[in-house]
Amino acid sequence: MARIIPYEEALNEAAALLGAGGVVAIPTETVYGLAADALNGEAVAKIFETKGRPRFNPLIAHVANIGMAAVLVALNDKALALAEKFWPGPLTMVLPMADGSPVHPLVTAGLDTLAIRVPKSDFTRALIAEFGRPLAAPSANRSGRISATTAAAVDAELGDRIELIVDGGSATVGVESTIVRIDGDRITLLRPGGIAREAIEDVVKTRLEAASEGKVQAPGMLLSHYAPQLGMRLGVQEVEPGEALLAFGPQRAAGAEHAAAVINLSEKGDLREAAANLFSAMRELDRSEATAITVEPIPEQGLGEAINDRLRRAAAPRDMHGLGE
Ligand code: AMP
Ligand code: MG
Repeated sequence: MARIIPYEEALNEAAALLGAGGVVAIPTETVYGLAADALNGEAVAKIFETKGRPRFNPLIAHVANIGMAAVLVALNDKALALAEKFWPGPLTMVLPMADGSPVHPLVTAGLDTLAIRVPKSDFTRALIAEFGRPLAAPSANRSGRISATTAAAVDAELGDRIELIVDGGSATVGVESTIVRIDGDRITLLRPGGIAREAIEDVVKTRLEAASEGKVQAPGMLLSHYAPQLGMRLGVQEVEPGEALLAFGPQRAAGAEHAAAVINLSEKGDLREAAANLFSAMRELDRSEATAITVEPIPEQGLGEAINDRLRRAAAPRDMHGLGE
């Protein structure tokens, strides 16, 4: 069972748990977040495991201040103006990742953009500063349920699955952050939230565009998925010569010795480790001289569901990639 600790007493313990690769429920002004070290793939995988999320959608990176954001993303003039006006606060910006950004690819679901914000909670900013690394954090609720705005609500959702809930009182905003994507001078509203469109338009002096690329409209919906150039074959028992093999577990598919390249997501068959390795492995095999990427069967349980969901999207025809998150 989770322990609920008042924020005044929680700083050191929360930082220690995060440093050990754990997840911690933290207060923010929007809703409570389920946080993990954004540089640690297995810690980020635990977020998806804990929420029971059946797919990997990208998470918001929470930082302590603009300086910390500048290490992770490229802030242009418009982004900087918005950051100066609205941070700390409920505005998330999706920005191109900075060169050499250390954020783990599971946070961005393999995309080259990162969603980032500075939360208003003094505790959470102090925690991030103490920890010294960005925190990846979606809402602290089970997948498919409504967000939690009190520590007790987090406890009801996730109390049996996590160790520590930091109680920072009721979330003052109570709805999710507004998400905008900034692409040069173009600014697109991806999700309405705690900061009004008009307030953003006042600062940037342009109209926000509507997110219209996807066929399905959903809050914060992801408009494009990372998709490899090479074709993919899933659940294979036999590797064709010249294919790259994405392996899982100790047993190899027949013909593995003829593969152009092999990466094992987890030798020991650990789904958390496999989740953490998935996006970098797909990218690396995609860069190989192979004819296709062929993937060994991955069990459809726990994190395996999200791994298989992402592999199916990567294997699907191109016009499928924009469907939903
Ligand atoms: P949550 O953390 O639950 O408030 O959800 C974050 C939302 O941000 C998700 O719905 C994502 O689809 C969206 N998001 C995060 N990163 C990106 C990105 N790089 N591009 C587009 N959307 C994003
Ligand atoms: Mg949520």
